[in-house]
Amino acid sequence: MKAEIITIGDELLNGQVIDTNSAWIARHLGALHIPVVHITSISDKGYAIKNALQQAEERADVIIMTGGLGPTRDDVTKAAVADYFGTTLVRNETVSAHVQEIFHRTGRKHMPAMNIGQADVLANAAVLFNDVGTAPGMAVERSGKYFAFLPGVPFEMKFLMENRVLPMLRNAYKSDVFVYNSYLLTVGIGESHLAEQIADIEDTLPPFITLAYLPRIGMVRLRFTGEGTDMEALTSITNSFKEQVVERIKDHVVSIDNRSFEEVLVQIFTDTGITLSTAESCTGGSISAQITAVPGASRMFQGAAVVYSNQAKMDVLGVLSETLTQYGAVSEPTVKEMAEGARRVFRTDYAIATSGIAGPGGGTETKPVGTVCIAVAGPSETRMQTFHFKNDRAINIERTVVAGLTMLWD
Ligand code: ATP
Ligand code: MG
Repeated sequence: MKAEIITIGDELLNGQVIDTNSAWIARHLGALHIPVVHITSISDKGYAIKNALQQAEERADVIIMTGGLGPTRDDVTKAAVADYFGTTLVRNETVSAHVQEIFHRTGRKHMPAMNIGQADVLANAAVLFNDVGTAPGMAVERSGKYFAFLPGVPFEMKFLMENRVLPMLRNAYKSDVFVYNSYLLTVGIGESHLAEQIADIEDTLPPFITLAYLPRIGMVRLRFTGEGTDMEALTSITNSFKEQVVERIKDHVVSIDNRSFEEVLVQIFTDTGITLSTAESCTGGSISAQITAVPGASRMFQGAAVVYSNQAKMDVLGVLSETLTQYGAVSEPTVKEMAEGARRVFRTDYAIATSGIAGPGGGTETKPVGTVCIAVAGPSETRMQTFHFKNDRAINIERTVVAGLTMLWD
């Protein structure tokens, strides 16, 4: 059983809109054990639609198409699809009443004639009624192959997938194969170093377990996926390999489930009754934002001082004017005083401080763009470290956030 996704829209091809529909659909088909073997984005043109359908029908058993069903594009997509199946469009009265009802409910007197065209559906299709929009979806079965045509608007597509398409597929293509995913999250080690360190374990993985590296800035998540018919055995074998890996690289492992680094930190701080604050220059509050995005962070996070200027560093956190003059804002002595100042002002056990040159401007010979100093102050000591990142401002900020949290972890 294989699936293919086709998304329609010139806006997907010219970069105005990112095709998030495919990723969502692929994840949900994957959960049903229907792998997606091909994803295509095509233009709002009849011939492109017919070509794509023909190729998809050769490759896949389940074909999901999104986009181009709205009133303005009606003619092209639906006409092309009707042509492809050698069928016609017929007015569906239920849909027609639904579209008119939506117009009246929203207080609009005049309904453009093109809107009623949304009630025209393929004569050979089952209508997938759309409770959350005007364009209905359609499903066609032909020679054991299943086609679904859905609106492009993401929440309408999701509604129809969740309520119409996935339940149907779940029933029709019931599988006795289980898929078990198990995760771990590492920080402070690059993807290739990690791979090198666990290569021998990876070599012994049985064919029904696969290991995926999912790198993000400053961290790598590993996902073990086991597939088999005996859920209990599968879970225990998959986890035994994960445990071997955790044992091998334990200094870098921060999470052994699917939780994020911040979630794990918030949990540990909360459980042990330790509190945290931040003093942020180059990260501008990003560390605080990451922490406070975790529900329950209020139990351990006291506050953040975003101190961008030298004056603010002195006034808010008590950084000494001499320190700034002698060493500069981006220096270990400055972040040390910032972190210690935050601990004092917010009365926390720990504080993270950042100061750096995120770029693209502001670099000097001795402190090029990407130079970042981070301090973590705690009850018994303050640790400082200087990092040399690269040129991209957004990435430098994200790296600094992860590096700060990693120093806190250590
Ligand atoms: P309608 O015209 O009624 O809104 P439609 O079925 O014609 O629906 P489109 O016109 O293709 O859909 O897309 C509507 C909007 O939905 C687009 O402007 C775009 O923002 C979003 N969209 C369409 N396709 C995708 C996609 N593959 N991924 C993410 N967003 C999408
Ligand atoms: Mg479109």
